[in-house]
Amino acid sequence: MIYGVLADVHSNLEALKVVLEFFEEAGVEGYLCLGDLVGYGPDPEECVRRVAALPNLSAIAGNHDLAVIGRADLQWFNQYARAAVLWTRGRLSAESRRFLEGLAARLEAEEFTLVHGTPRNPAEEYLLSPEQFQDNVPFVKRWPLFVGHTHMPMLFRYVDSAGGKAETLFLDEREMTLARAPGGPFAPAALNPGAVGQPRDQDRRASCAVFDSKAGTFRVFRLPYDIPGVQAKIRAAGLPEYLALRLDYGQ
Ligand code: ZN
Repeated sequence: MIYGVLADVHSNLEALKVVLEFFEEAGVEGYLCLGDLVGYGPDPEECVRRVAALPNLSAIAGNHDLAVIGRADLQWFNQYARAAVLWTRGRLSAESRRFLEGLAARLEAEEFTLVHGTPRNPAEEYLLSPEQFQDNVPFVKRWPLFVGHTHMPMLFRYVDSAGGKAETLFLDEREMTLARAPGGPFAPAALNPGAVGQPRDQDRRASCAVFDSKAGTFRVFRLPYDIPGVQAKIRAAGLPEYLALRLDYGQ
Protein backbone atom coordinates (compact mmCIF):
# COMPACT_ATOMS: atom_id res chain seq x y z
CA MET A 1 0.00 0.00 0.00
CA ILE A 2 1.09 3.58 -0.60
CA TYR A 3 0.87 5.60 2.59
CA GLY A 4 0.95 9.35 3.12
CA VAL A 5 2.94 9.91 6.32
CA LEU A 6 2.31 13.08 8.30
CA ALA A 7 3.31 14.31 11.75
CA ASP A 8 3.13 17.43 13.89
CA VAL A 9 0.40 19.27 12.00
CA HIS A 10 0.04 21.57 15.02
CA SER A 11 -3.20 23.25 13.95
CA ASN A 12 -1.59 24.66 10.80
CA LEU A 13 -4.43 24.35 8.30
CA GLU A 14 -2.67 26.10 5.41
CA ALA A 15 0.21 23.60 5.57
CA LEU A 16 -2.13 20.63 6.08
CA LYS A 17 -4.24 21.53 3.02
CA VAL A 18 -1.16 21.63 0.78
CA VAL A 19 0.08 18.30 2.13
CA LEU A 20 -3.29 16.54 1.73
CA GLU A 21 -3.66 17.82 -1.83
CA PHE A 22 -0.19 16.56 -2.61
CA PHE A 23 -0.97 13.13 -1.12
CA GLU A 24 -4.11 12.85 -3.23
CA GLU A 25 -2.22 13.69 -6.43
CA ALA A 26 0.49 11.20 -5.45
CA GLY A 27 -2.08 8.38 -5.39
CA VAL A 28 -1.82 7.74 -1.66
CA GLU A 29 -4.14 4.92 -0.49
CA GLY A 30 -3.75 5.13 3.29
CA TYR A 31 -2.58 7.63 5.88
CA LEU A 32 -0.25 7.41 8.88
CA CYS A 33 -0.61 10.32 11.33
CA LEU A 34 2.09 10.45 14.00
CA GLY A 35 0.57 12.79 16.55
CA ASP A 36 0.43 16.45 17.57
CA LEU A 37 -2.48 17.36 15.35
CA VAL A 38 -3.08 20.33 17.64
CA GLY A 39 -1.11 22.86 19.69
CA TYR A 40 0.81 25.99 18.58
CA GLY A 41 -1.35 26.89 15.57
CA PRO A 42 -4.65 28.72 15.00
CA ASP A 43 -6.89 26.02 13.41
CA PRO A 44 -7.19 23.02 15.74
CA GLU A 45 -10.81 22.13 14.97
CA GLU A 46 -10.47 22.16 11.19
CA CYS A 47 -7.19 20.23 11.29
CA VAL A 48 -8.66 17.47 13.47
CA ARG A 49 -11.74 17.26 11.23
CA ARG A 50 -9.72 16.95 8.02
CA VAL A 51 -7.41 14.26 9.36
CA ALA A 52 -10.21 12.32 11.09
CA ALA A 53 -12.02 12.12 7.73
CA LEU A 54 -9.09 10.54 5.84
CA PRO A 55 -9.66 7.03 4.46
CA ASN A 56 -7.55 4.12 5.78
CA LEU A 57 -6.20 6.28 8.59
CA SER A 58 -3.88 4.96 11.28
CA ALA A 59 -3.25 7.64 13.90
CA ILE A 60 -1.74 8.01 17.36
CA ALA A 61 -1.62 10.74 20.02
CA GLY A 62 1.22 13.20 20.55
CA ASN A 63 2.11 15.08 23.73
CA HIS A 64 0.21 18.22 22.64
CA ASP A 65 -2.91 16.18 21.82
CA LEU A 66 -2.70 14.59 25.28
CA ALA A 67 -2.20 17.98 26.98
CA VAL A 68 -5.25 19.45 25.24
CA ILE A 69 -7.48 16.62 26.50
CA GLY A 70 -5.98 16.83 29.99
CA ARG A 71 -3.85 13.67 29.88
CA ALA A 72 -0.38 15.25 30.00
CA ASP A 73 1.12 17.47 32.67
CA LEU A 74 1.49 21.06 31.45
CA GLN A 75 4.50 21.70 33.66
CA TRP A 76 6.71 20.07 31.00
CA PHE A 77 5.56 22.56 28.36
CA ASN A 78 7.31 25.87 27.72
CA GLN A 79 5.27 29.08 28.07
CA TYR A 80 4.38 29.28 24.36
CA ALA A 81 3.28 25.67 24.11
CA ARG A 82 1.30 25.96 27.34
CA ALA A 83 -0.48 29.13 26.18
CA ALA A 84 -1.46 27.38 22.94
CA VAL A 85 -2.69 24.25 24.75
CA LEU A 86 -4.94 26.32 27.02
CA TRP A 87 -6.23 28.33 24.04
CA THR A 88 -6.91 25.14 22.05
CA ARG A 89 -8.96 23.54 24.83
CA GLY A 90 -11.74 26.03 24.31
CA ARG A 91 -11.84 25.62 20.54
CA LEU A 92 -12.52 21.96 19.90
CA SER A 93 -15.95 20.52 19.22
CA ALA A 94 -17.06 17.57 21.35
CA GLU A 95 -16.59 15.35 18.30
CA SER A 96 -12.99 16.42 17.68
CA ARG A 97 -12.20 16.09 21.35
CA ARG A 98 -13.55 12.55 21.29
CA PHE A 99 -11.40 11.79 18.25
CA LEU A 100 -8.27 12.87 20.17
CA GLU A 101 -9.40 10.92 23.25
CA GLY A 102 -9.68 7.80 21.11
CA LEU A 103 -6.06 7.90 19.95
CA ALA A 104 -3.60 5.44 21.53
CA ALA A 105 0.00 6.34 22.32
CA ARG A 106 1.21 3.48 20.16
CA LEU A 107 -0.16 1.56 17.21
CA GLU A 108 1.16 -1.74 15.90
CA ALA A 109 -0.09 -2.96 12.52
CA GLU A 110 0.89 -5.66 10.04
CA GLU A 111 3.16 -3.32 8.07
CA PHE A 112 4.41 -0.78 10.62
CA THR A 113 4.57 0.54 14.19
CA LEU A 114 3.60 4.13 15.05
CA VAL A 115 4.58 6.24 18.06
CA HIS A 116 4.97 10.00 18.53
CA GLY A 117 8.29 10.07 20.41
CA THR A 118 9.88 6.66 20.98
CA PRO A 119 8.53 3.13 21.61
CA ARG A 120 9.75 3.09 25.20
CA ASN A 121 8.40 6.55 26.00
CA PRO A 122 5.86 7.49 23.30
CA ALA A 123 4.78 10.88 24.63
CA GLU A 124 8.08 12.32 25.80
CA GLU A 125 11.39 11.03 24.43
CA TYR A 126 12.82 12.71 21.31
CA LEU A 127 14.45 10.18 18.98
CA LEU A 128 17.64 11.93 17.90
CA SER A 129 20.68 9.63 18.27
CA PRO A 130 21.76 6.24 16.93
CA GLU A 131 22.25 5.09 20.56
CA GLN A 132 18.64 5.90 21.42
CA PHE A 133 17.51 4.06 18.33
CA GLN A 134 19.42 0.95 19.42
CA ASP A 135 18.00 1.19 22.95
CA ASN A 136 14.48 1.31 21.49
CA VAL A 137 14.84 -1.62 19.07
CA PRO A 138 13.72 -4.24 21.65
CA PHE A 139 10.41 -2.39 22.07
CA VAL A 140 9.36 -2.88 18.43
CA LYS A 141 8.02 -6.02 16.74
CA ARG A 142 6.90 -4.66 13.35
CA TRP A 143 9.22 -2.53 11.25
CA PRO A 144 9.48 0.12 9.99
CA LEU A 145 8.81 2.33 12.98
CA PHE A 146 7.36 5.77 12.25
CA VAL A 147 7.94 8.63 14.69
CA GLY A 148 7.38 12.39 14.90
CA HIS A 149 8.00 14.82 17.78
CA THR A 150 11.41 16.25 16.75
CA HIS A 151 9.93 18.04 13.69
CA MET A 152 12.92 16.93 11.59
CA PRO A 153 12.90 14.44 8.69
CA MET A 154 15.27 11.67 9.78
CA LEU A 155 16.11 8.01 9.31
CA PHE A 156 17.64 5.69 11.90
CA ARG A 157 18.98 2.28 10.91
CA TYR A 158 21.80 -0.20 11.38
CA VAL A 159 24.91 0.44 9.29
CA ASP A 160 25.14 -3.22 8.22
CA SER A 161 22.97 -6.32 8.42
CA ALA A 162 24.93 -7.64 11.43
CA GLY A 163 23.06 -5.02 13.47
CA GLY A 164 26.05 -3.83 15.52
CA LYS A 165 26.26 -0.13 14.79
CA ALA A 166 23.43 2.30 14.04
CA GLU A 167 23.37 5.59 12.15
CA THR A 168 21.21 8.70 11.88
CA LEU A 169 20.55 10.37 8.53
CA PHE A 170 18.89 13.75 8.00
CA LEU A 171 16.62 13.27 5.01
CA ASP A 172 16.33 15.47 1.96
CA GLU A 173 13.88 14.65 -0.83
CA ARG A 174 15.77 11.67 -2.20
CA GLU A 175 14.04 8.31 -2.13
CA MET A 176 15.34 5.88 0.50
CA THR A 177 15.02 2.12 0.06
CA LEU A 178 14.56 0.22 3.31
CA ALA A 179 16.53 -2.96 3.94
CA ARG A 180 14.54 -6.19 4.14
CA ALA A 181 15.12 -9.92 3.90
CA PRO A 182 14.06 -11.21 0.45
CA GLY A 183 10.28 -11.61 0.66
CA GLY A 184 10.57 -11.13 4.42
CA PRO A 185 10.09 -8.39 6.99
CA PHE A 186 11.88 -5.04 7.02
CA ALA A 187 15.10 -4.67 8.99
CA PRO A 188 14.88 -2.30 11.98
CA ALA A 189 14.53 1.30 10.79
CA ALA A 190 12.85 4.37 12.25
CA LEU A 191 11.51 7.09 9.98
CA ASN A 192 10.43 10.62 10.77
CA PRO A 193 8.60 12.53 7.99
CA GLY A 194 9.36 15.93 9.55
CA ALA A 195 6.63 18.35 10.62
CA VAL A 196 3.70 19.48 8.49
CA GLY A 197 2.91 22.54 10.56
CA GLN A 198 6.10 23.66 12.28
CA PRO A 199 9.37 22.39 10.69
CA ARG A 200 12.49 22.81 12.84
CA ASP A 201 15.27 21.96 10.41
CA GLN A 202 15.79 25.48 9.07
CA ASP A 203 13.58 24.69 6.06
CA ARG A 204 10.29 26.55 6.42
CA ARG A 205 8.38 24.43 3.90
CA ALA A 206 5.87 21.85 5.16
CA SER A 207 7.38 18.38 5.45
CA CYS A 208 5.68 15.04 4.81
CA ALA A 209 6.56 11.65 3.33
CA VAL A 210 5.30 8.80 1.20
CA PHE A 211 5.91 5.19 2.26
CA ASP A 212 5.40 2.43 -0.29
CA SER A 213 5.18 -0.77 1.76
CA LYS A 214 5.42 -3.03 -1.30
CA ALA A 215 8.44 -1.35 -2.91
CA GLY A 216 9.97 -0.68 0.51
CA THR A 217 10.65 2.98 -0.24
CA PHE A 218 10.30 6.12 1.86
CA ARG A 219 10.56 9.60 0.45
CA VAL A 220 10.28 13.00 2.11
CA PHE A 221 8.64 15.90 0.27
CA ARG A 222 8.87 19.61 1.10
CA LEU A 223 5.99 21.85 0.09
CA PRO A 224 5.67 25.64 0.23
CA TYR A 225 2.47 27.01 1.78
CA ASP A 226 0.93 30.33 2.80
CA ILE A 227 3.01 31.20 5.89
CA PRO A 228 1.85 34.87 6.11
CA GLY A 229 -1.75 33.60 6.13
CA VAL A 230 -1.09 31.39 9.16
CA GLN A 231 0.88 34.13 10.91
CA ALA A 232 -2.03 36.55 10.49
CA LYS A 233 -4.39 34.00 12.07
CA ILE A 234 -1.97 33.36 14.97
CA ARG A 235 -1.85 37.10 15.68
CA ALA A 236 -5.60 37.55 15.32
CA ALA A 237 -6.14 34.69 17.80
CA GLY A 238 -3.87 36.37 20.36
CA LEU A 239 -1.50 33.41 20.44
CA PRO A 240 2.18 34.19 21.33
CA GLU A 241 4.00 36.20 18.63
CA TYR A 242 6.92 33.77 18.79
CA LEU A 243 4.68 31.02 17.37
CA ALA A 244 4.12 33.17 14.28
CA LEU A 245 7.78 34.19 13.89
CA ARG A 246 9.27 30.71 14.14
CA LEU A 247 7.37 29.58 11.04
CA ASP A 248 9.51 32.00 8.99
CA TYR A 249 12.75 30.40 10.14
CA GLY A 250 11.75 26.77 10.16
CA GLN A 251 12.49 26.23 13.82
ZN1 ZN B 1 5.17 18.43 17.88
